[in-house]
Amino acid sequence: KKLPLVISACLAGRCCRYDGSSALLSCLNALDEVFELIALCPEQLGGLPTPRSCAELVNRRVLTKEGLDLTEPFVEGSRKALALARAQGCSIALLMERSPSCGSTCVYDGTFSGTLIEGEGVFANLLREQGFTLYTPKTIDALMKANTVSYGSEHR
Ligand code: SF4
Repeated sequence: KKLPLVISACLAGRCCRYDGSSALLSCLNALDEVFELIALCPEQLGGLPTPRSCAELVNRRVLTKEGLDLTEPFVEGSRKALALARAQGCSIALLMERSPSCGSTCVYDGTFSGTLIEGEGVFANLLREQGFTLYTPKTIDALMKANTVSYGSEHR
């Protein structure tokens, strides 16, 4: 059995981003060979439509550019996604950067001006609090290295 890995659904090719696009990773097939991919989109799980208004984190809330507060669906969707991940015995995640849900090292600063700051989105924060190890598209080498080695020795 392969090691389960949560992956932001947009990185796995689902057109679930706010603008209806995906962010398909070129190395998805290689990841699929090593991991059991669990593609989750916390915003869709929170009941939000696609496409949807662009949202950013503002003072620990999630607001759209128009000022609509989406904190509740973001939190609810993140909890649902966590439950699905846990049901698969998963403790690692590869998450899309810059998203107010999935961003794990940087997010937009809440001014809707395209400015990035250090920080994490609602889903990334929840997973980290629950003990998940988080990776980004920039740290896929580390993800592969850490998990293929330990997985291989544990399951031999
Ligand atoms: Fe991708 Fe996460 Fe945004 Fe869904 S919530 S579109 S999985 S970055």
